[in-house]
Amino acid sequence: MSHTEIEECIRAHGFDEFAWMDGRDVRVAQWVRFKCRMMCEGYGVSAMCPPNMPSVEECREFFGEYRRIALLHLELDCGGAPDEDVLGPVDEALLALEREAFLRGYEKAMVLPMTVCYRCRSCSGSVASCREKAASRPNPEALGVDVFATARALGFPIEVLDDVDRKQNRYAMLLLE
Ligand code: SF4
Repeated sequence: MSHTEIEECIRAHGFDEFAWMDGRDVRVAQWVRFKCRMMCEGYGVSAMCPPNMPSVEECREFFGEYRRIALLHLELDCGGAPDEDVLGPVDEALLALEREAFLRGYEKAMVLPMTVCYRCRSCSGSVASCREKAASRPNPEALGVDVFATARALGFPIEVLDDVDRKQNRYAMLLLE
């Protein structure tokens, strides 16, 4: 699959705004994991969140194995609605994109969604007992990615919002090869 074809594939799945980066340029930082561990109510709840995730150093090594990663940007008007209401269709599009890339010969293809996994009413809380392993993925933050720095380095907008009614700049990743 040519570079042009994979870009057409990304757009066909509804992602018109994206930029390529080398996996070694993904900003992986301890502060992300520390805030997750000490300040997030979801810590220890989702199977796809820390402490069920690899160490920050392992995450950095993981991203470093990729030469082409697409950072996918959406500007969303969530209006205070739960992530699963707004991002459900986006997650399905991401999984379809991952599958198409894989079937077209990108054996390392993997997507990281824009939100925490919400697929079950009550998460199993461990990767081993996850009920939908074929569809659940960690988001970039769960793997220690400083999404703010990573997006800004590519020229994308992102800022801390003081009102849930404001439009949100959300990011997913397609790890390709
Ligand atoms: S699919 Fe269900 S069990 Fe697995 S991470 Fe998501 S919510 Fe948890």
